[in-house]
Amino acid sequence: MEEKGRIGIPKALMFYRYFPLWKIFFEELGWRVIVSNGLGKRGRLIYFEDSCLPMKLLVTHSMDLKDRADHLFLPRLVSLHRSYIMCPKFRGAPDIVRLATEGTVSILDETIDLRMREHSMLQSFLRTGKRLGADEKEGKRAFQKAERLFTNFQKGWEDRINQLPTRQFFEIDIPTPLPPPPSPSPVKGGGELMESPSFLDVKPVEDGCRGEKPLFRVAFVGHPYNLFDTDVNKDVLSFAKSLGMRIITPEGLSEKEIDAQVSDLSKEIYWSSGREIVGSLFHFLSGGVDGVVFLTSFKCGIDALLQEFVRRRLKVRGGSSIPLLILSLDEHSGREGLTTRLEAFRDVMEERKRSNA
Ligand code: SF4
Repeated sequence: MEEKGRIGIPKALMFYRYFPLWKIFFEELGWRVIVSNGLGKRGRLIYFEDSCLPMKLLVTHSMDLKDRADHLFLPRLVSLHRSYIMCPKFRGAPDIVRLATEGTVSILDETIDLRMREHSMLQSFLRTGKRLGADEKEGKRAFQKAERLFTNFQKGWEDRINQLPTRQFFEIDIPTPLPPPPSPSPVKGGGELMESPSFLDVKPVEDGCRGEKPLFRVAFVGHPYNLFDTDVNKDVLSFAKSLGMRIITPEGLSEKEIDAQVSDLSKEIYWSSGREIVGSLFHFLSGGVDGVVFLTSFKCGIDALLQEFVRRRLKVRGGSSIPLLILSLDEHSGREGLTTRLEAFRDVMEERKRSNA
């Protein structure tokens, strides 16, 4: 199929959950998908007043793409749940980017609000497809294929985040589970690993512990961008893996498991992300893991409330026998500070294991 043009997708916010779905949809309609570059070590963050780091990153990534793409894809995410809403900043995100890019690039910003049938995921994508010249039949076919492949992609999530370096988590061309790691080499002198031919196209985890059996199962909980955007969390997941932790995230939990933890709350949580975070956090604290790490955004009002909420609930329950670490992230967080706390957390888990043995 002839390429119709380029759709730019900023590597920020809900990219860190839905990118495979979005990419497949646009490619099925004949568009090439390009994503922004991460900040890396030299990248400059675009600052604006009173915003959380994930929103600043959205604007920074959009600016990186604006001259390379025919359209930017920034859906107006009002609700991704039938009863709960997203943080209000998501509603305004396309407008913030429109202001920042001074109207120099077209923005595909159809509303997604799962509380309303006319703004369902399918309807929103059909409208987006129509803006790109696709009729309803083509849009539907592309969306259904994207949805099907995305469901498969999600099934391999735990293997993916434990076997791949963080920058490859969303590379959908790499299938999971990966082939078994090559057995330690018959090596010459220096101890370097030989790679089997089937493994050559997949770079091994750099900081991770691929090939070694992890010592701890640790749940990492937070907004998807706090968990998987290395410009937010300084790639704390790779460091955790190098300390012998197998990573578990809320992606693997069902609605039912989350509901079971939040349905008896005296005060309802209106934000879908907040509900997922609290529900998964208490699910993991009730067993099956050696520790729980909650990654929060420093300037996020929702995270500030959730932390207070979690502390109070733990107090009422008389604490938890499973260690909990809360790490607050912003643009000034240094990797060293995060890794030191994670090392100390590992010692706590080790001590607990020893005393339970
Ligand atoms: S939920 Fe918090 S971190 Fe996420 S966009 Fe809203 S304010 Fe920012």
